[in-house]
Amino acid sequence: MTAAAGVSRASEDESGVLPPCDRGAHSFARFRVEGDDGAPVHLCLRHTLSSRRVVRTALTVAAVVGTVLTAINQGDQLASGNLQAAMLWKTPLTYCVPYCVATVSALRVAQLRRHGLPRR
Ligand SMILES: [Zn+2]
Repeated sequence: MTAAAGVSRASEDESGVLPPCDRGAHSFARFRVEGDDGAPVHLCLRHTLSSRRVVRTALTVAAVVGTVLTAINQGDQLASGNLQAAMLWKTPLTYCVPYCVATVSALRVAQLRRHGLPRR
């Protein structure tokens, strides 16, 4: 069976074995994400976590949600100028939480089942 340039390689594998990572055969691909050219690629966890699409989406979510949460939680302190030392760790953590949530959500959506098809 012929596939177009690795686009559907994982879904063609009916042996129950996950395909190798498209960025090197060092590990099994457990996720299918959109590559830089828009075509789907099959990646291991490490390459999925560092893929441009996943990182860019998570950073966007973190910027929007983190800013809203910071305004809600520390807005009064910011507005009054009464900054406390605890803001040095609370504010970065406020941005880290939506980044992690967006990343985990992306991983869940992109996760391949054992026979190479996306999870439902
Ligand atoms: Zn990899």
